[in-house]
Amino acid sequence: GGSIGILGSGQLGRMAALAAARLGYRCHAYGPDENAPANQVCDAATVAAYDDREALTRFAGAVDVVTFEFENIPLATVELLEGLVPLRPGTKVLSICQHRQREKDFCRSVSVPTADYRPANDLAGLKQAVAEIGTPCILKSAELGYDGKGQVRIEADSDLDAAWAAMRGHAAEAAGIVEALVQFRMEISVIVARGSDGTMRTYVPVENRHRDHILDETIVPANLPQDVSDRAEAIARHLAQEMALVGLLAVEMFVTHDGKVLVNEMAPRPHNSGHWSIDACITSQFEQFIRAVAGLPLGSTERLCDAVMKNLLGDEVADWRKILADPGNKLHLYGKAAPRPGRKMGHVTRLIRR
Ligand code: ATP
Ligand code: MG
Ligand code: MG
Repeated sequence: GGSIGILGSGQLGRMAALAAARLGYRCHAYGPDENAPANQVCDAATVAAYDDREALTRFAGAVDVVTFEFENIPLATVELLEGLVPLRPGTKVLSICQHRQREKDFCRSVSVPTADYRPANDLAGLKQAVAEIGTPCILKSAELGYDGKGQVRIEADSDLDAAWAAMRGHAAEAAGIVEALVQFRMEISVIVARGSDGTMRTYVPVENRHRDHILDETIVPANLPQDVSDRAEAIARHLAQEMALVGLLAVEMFVTHDGKVLVNEMAPRPHNSGHWSIDACITSQFEQFIRAVAGLPLGSTERLCDAVMKNLLGDEVADWRKILADPGNKLHLYGKAAPRPGRKMGHVTRLIRR
């Protein structure tokens, strides 16, 4: 055993802490929100801002290793922590994954294909980027986006001043990035774990279906030709290897109609599209995350059955008794009080015998 510090106190931290407890570890959550899902199951919780240096220093002193369940942690915060206690994955990985421009530049630098993109650092930059990329395209804030927030679709007749203002309305200071719109056949993700000794294990590629830019369902496995599926796994491993990441990396990708695999974005932590692994794999993504961060050997990612995972968003959680009444459903609730529209309240996994 030992103590693992987790920055961020949402449902990903909660499920990671539950997996850690089974391996004999204690977890200490750190985040600004008192009634957060992870705080209810961790052995300790610090409720403080990410720039509270005193609280961060005390947190670092109380744990053996620090990780994060959320990539929008200020770099200054993780740099401070990294000077005091091992941080896995490290600041370099976080810096790449929390900024869309750096993320796509990194992919290109290691020969991993992405949609065509251009920086848009101001309104003039946006106009030039749209002229170069062409329409339709998407303006995204380079930082602080999730669930499609901070994204504006741009067509030939769109008002670019309004698009810029809408993007800045989400993240006031952020730069932007313009991406070509990909006509994809399927959205998939691959989760790869990399241990402190460099060993890697991947989970099978899964299909992700979104509703209103929020993940709705994950279908396991993605129904793809073997060569496409192999390429997706190889890309995820290559990215983890090239970043020398220790921990978990989720890679979201588009599969085009002609079988190309383009990386959309990366998350250096457990991912919503890996929740099925709790019920369907020898080692869940959360146990694997804890193993990697704690410097333990990785477990088998073998899938024992196929699965469909459905997120319970907002009011959908009200049906939880009905869901439980079907004895085959594996229900997971995150302990959140207010079911705001689109908020991830829980998920349900159906196992499918092969
Ligand atoms: P997440 O909650 O996954 O972190 P996010 O806000 O970071 O979401 P993206 O994953 O970049 O945003 O985009 C959200 C969704 O919008 C994608 O899953 C995809 O359905 C669609 N999308 C994003 N970029 C493109 C693109 N270039 N072409 C086509 N569709 C796109
Ligand atoms: Mg994202
Ligand atoms: Mg995404």
